[in-house]
Amino acid sequence: MNPSTDRRAYTRAFYQGNRLNFALALLFTVLSTGAMLYLSWVLGEVTNLMAASDLDELGRTLSVTLISLAGILAVELLTYYYKSRFIHKAMRQYKDLAFSRLSEKSISAFSRETTSRYLSALTNDANSVEENYLNRSLLLIYHGALFVGGMTMMLAMSWQLALAAIVLCLIPIACALAMGGGLARRERAMSDQNERFVAQVKDFLSGFSIIKSFKAEGEVKQLFCATNAETERVKERRRRWEGMLSGATQVCGVLLQMGIFFIGAWLAITGSIQMGTVLVILNLCNCFTAPIQIVPQYWASRKAALALVDKLDQVTRENAGRSGRAIPPVLKQAIALEGVSFGYEEGRPVLQGLSIRFEPGKRYAVVGPSGSGKSTLLSLLMGAYHSYTGSITIDGQQLREVDPDSLYDLMSLIGQNVFLFDDTITRNLTLFRDFPAQQVEDAVQRSGLSALVEQRGADYRCGENGVGLSGGERQRVSIARALLRGTPVLLLDEATAALDNQTAYEVTDGILSLEGLTRIVVTHRLDAALMQRYDEILVLKDGRLLESGTFRELMQAKKYFYSLFTLSEG
Ligand code: ADP
Ligand code: MG
Repeated sequence: MNPSTDRRAYTRAFYQGNRLNFALALLFTVLSTGAMLYLSWVLGEVTNLMAASDLDELGRTLSVTLISLAGILAVELLTYYYKSRFIHKAMRQYKDLAFSRLSEKSISAFSRETTSRYLSALTNDANSVEENYLNRSLLLIYHGALFVGGMTMMLAMSWQLALAAIVLCLIPIACALAMGGGLARRERAMSDQNERFVAQVKDFLSGFSIIKSFKAEGEVKQLFCATNAETERVKERRRRWEGMLSGATQVCGVLLQMGIFFIGAWLAITGSIQMGTVLVILNLCNCFTAPIQIVPQYWASRKAALALVDKLDQVTRENAGRSGRAIPPVLKQAIALEGVSFGYEEGRPVLQGLSIRFEPGKRYAVVGPSGSGKSTLLSLLMGAYHSYTGSITIDGQQLREVDPDSLYDLMSLIGQNVFLFDDTITRNLTLFRDFPAQQVEDAVQRSGLSALVEQRGADYRCGENGVGLSGGERQRVSIARALLRGTPVLLLDEATAALDNQTAYEVTDGILSLEGLTRIVVTHRLDAALMQRYDEILVLKDGRLLESGTFRELMQAKKYFYSLFTLSEG
């Protein structure tokens, strides 16, 4: 087991504010085992009355038993009631904790992993934890209590027989201990495979239209069949192991029962115990063999479920959000890069030796061919990667040491990929937060969304990932989101790429006209009228800053920007 995992937070989540439910579930569980033992005892009593031919006593015993049955029924119902209350709250808190830990992750940590890991942990694995850990823990206690109670009663009635039972019990226990680890391994393998399965299905569903239009259904079906087969194979391996375990313990249980039966018969025949006692003990044996069969099996699956809790702990712990020093949401001096180099992979630099100063309230354009590192530069500014060399400072504060939360209050990024929730336009703009209506209206207007909102209404549902909106509309939603958040620094990464020329011009013009904001705009639209409005144009090529200056300066220099511009004009 990974030493860095600590499942305690999760096991605490099961019991937090839930101890009373757990204690009551436990109490009634134990009481219900008492009922089982009581019924065995009644059996022995009635047998002895039979032998004594005592009709009066039989009637009395019958009425006492009937009254007790009502009590037993009540105990059973209360057991289920409190058990279900306990499990309900435990699972809710468990998944809530997992999700809140997940949302604490940093963006870069999150995007390094696949969402299917989390999906599987919150769905399949959670179900398995509920059944195999929570439910079975209580069943374990039930069977454990039954075992202890039955054993005590047996010892009281005949120590010879009880001793024989103890010795015979050791066989199934040893067997379960030997096989339990194997089951835990297979349980984890099953969860891993499930994760791969979910990932693939998710991929195929997201890429459905591409698959269809490339007529790749056959190939995709084959890939699916292979993963599906492997998933079922892994599940079968686990099932087989569980079957073997339960088979082995069952055989041991029969051995135990027969052993006790024959020894009991021998003791009765030789006259050291009564016939009635043999009957009681034989019956007790039932509430005795069940635990022997079930306890080891449940213990093993409980262990396997705990391995899943460990796994959840691992995926929600790794690269958890960094905290750092909070910065105020204002830019006073500058965001300054000095000799910044960065690469995603070892030996393949994407940015090289960048030194740039972004000053408050100014407008910057970042231009350059595709792959020159423009998006990477913006990602670095948003604190997505800390593995760069050189220094990036915000008003003198090293970016690496800045608390990401406060960074997001200073800057927002409008990217190329816009994610929309399957919710109303308004809630997609506000991202479920509350803003004054006037502010929302303002953002709608400035991002050019007014027509859409008028046409379809602010309560129009955007569909899964915004299928109900066009690419341009989606992009305007993301612009409106950023305007609404009102961070003093705005980063735009080809944010108007999906808009037609006229709209792109209007939206960019709107953004450039905002007073007091620092804007860093990555663009491939080299429109002269817009270009003239930037305080500085930064030209990137192969990760290097080739030139920088105002539009006029760069055009006069007649170097790389000039050729880019004239090319785009032509
Ligand atoms: P631009 O935005 O100027 O088109 P990018 O910053 O997106 O360029 O990419 C610069 C280079 O970095 C490209 O060669 C691209 O393949 C590579 N790159 C971008 N993102 C990643 C990533 N997440 N992992 C590895 N390489 C990446
Ligand atoms: Mg890019």
